[in-house]
Amino acid sequence: MRKLVHADRVIRHDGVLGDAVLIEDGVIVAIGEHAELQRPNVPEEPFPGATIIPGLRDAHFHPIWYADLLDGISLKSATSIAEVQQRLSRAAEKSPGRGPLHASRLDDDHLVDRRLPTSDDLDAAVPDRPVLVTRYCGHVATANSAALAAAGITAATPDPPGGSFDRYESGEPTGVLRETAIGMVVGAVPRPRVGVNELLHAMRMLASLGLTSIGAMLRFGDEVDAIVAVAAELPIKVHAYIIADTPEELRTAIDSAGGRLQWQGIKRFADGSFGAHTAAMVEPFTDVDTLGTLRLTDYDRTLAAESLTLGGDVAFHGIGDRAIAAILDQFEELIADGWSPDRFRIEHASVLTGDLVERIAHTGVIASVQPAFLPSETDWLEARVGSERMPRTYPLRSLLDAGALLAGGSDCPVESPNPFWGMAAAIDRAGIVPEEGLTSAELFTEGSAAALKQPRPLAIGSPADFVVVDRNPLTATPDELRATTVLDTYVDGTPVLVDRTLPWWDA
Ligand SMILES: [Zn+2]
Repeated sequence: MRKLVHADRVIRHDGVLGDAVLIEDGVIVAIGEHAELQRPNVPEEPFPGATIIPGLRDAHFHPIWYADLLDGISLKSATSIAEVQQRLSRAAEKSPGRGPLHASRLDDDHLVDRRLPTSDDLDAAVPDRPVLVTRYCGHVATANSAALAAAGITAATPDPPGGSFDRYESGEPTGVLRETAIGMVVGAVPRPRVGVNELLHAMRMLASLGLTSIGAMLRFGDEVDAIVAVAAELPIKVHAYIIADTPEELRTAIDSAGGRLQWQGIKRFADGSFGAHTAAMVEPFTDVDTLGTLRLTDYDRTLAAESLTLGGDVAFHGIGDRAIAAILDQFEELIADGWSPDRFRIEHASVLTGDLVERIAHTGVIASVQPAFLPSETDWLEARVGSERMPRTYPLRSLLDAGALLAGGSDCPVESPNPFWGMAAAIDRAGIVPEEGLTSAELFTEGSAAALKQPRPLAIGSPADFVVVDRNPLTATPDELRATTVLDTYVDGTPVLVDRTLPWWDA
């Protein structure tokens, strides 16, 4: 079955390819001029005035967390602990019972109180059922007394490996949980599983934003189960990186792929976040005297080797320079064992002081970056890392110039899923160290496609995954890029439902 889709132009980052794309059985068979490709018996789908661009790929996305958020309690716009309390008590009234309440996207840097809430703050709003409030980075959270009690956490509980409880001088936990300590509470008061319809709705939202593929970070267990339940109906391609703790978990997850769901590898954490002061730094943070938390151990290397042996890739989260150096040590050993460098990804690769840019480029591993972090960190990034480290924080241009492979992502729901916002931020960086900006945003097309081991986007012989938009991204300013409207999204040659009538983000 053939079909000709045409617009005013068809573009890739390297230029105009024509104005029409000929598709046969979901694959691109020709790209060129409409006048030459049209045939009497080939149906046409015209988009006058529009531009066809490659399908956008987000290399680092949390689909279950995003779907939860569309239906759950988001605190991103809360400006005080009092407002957090009001929203929690309102949510408790709306869903009566004793079940746990989970709220996310708290941004303590935007609270007038300038601090994280404690258990006492949450108890004042909701005393009689477990409550867990997670910061928007996902690396720090606060549990109320009922949630701490459900997890059996008391003054006598030691900090878990790779995590910690904030404590009063008495040793009593304040309720603030960092890194792996969050998992102890989530395990005791699990989130309700996201429904099939809610998850599919969230994935259609992504198609309506121009995304044709995501690199999906999925916790073994509930998150993997949720995506497997919708695999046969996914509107877009989901490449899964499993947050697994054992080789058995990894093997179990790999066995259940199918449809547009494909297993891509393992995801592990070498450190935490800037916001939680848990990124592992060589020199202390500027605003708090800590070197953060290095979570990477030899066991991560064992799991990485297991993923490689099973045919998967390895994605390690590294934000601080100390964590990234430790990741590169392990990756370099595995590459020396004969594994191809493009099987390895550093997630975020945020602070690259010292020789780290050159090491990433030299080893050939992929830097999976999230330019949209920049606009949301403008208020506090320099206070955290200090002026000396700023030029080497998210140094996109230096990475590219050194020859490193860049994949683009949002880390949604840490940031908005809208890929045009990320593309624009890669170029203008919200004004932060502008000389590290890129001139075009192919990290969201070619770069992520390479990271996800997909064929070249918008090329002959590749799957017909492309997007029709209302403007030409090659000539648009970053602000014009941010305002792009998607007219249709094709996955394997078929238009997928575009539905922007429901809320998709709470920025
Ligand atoms: Zn993430």
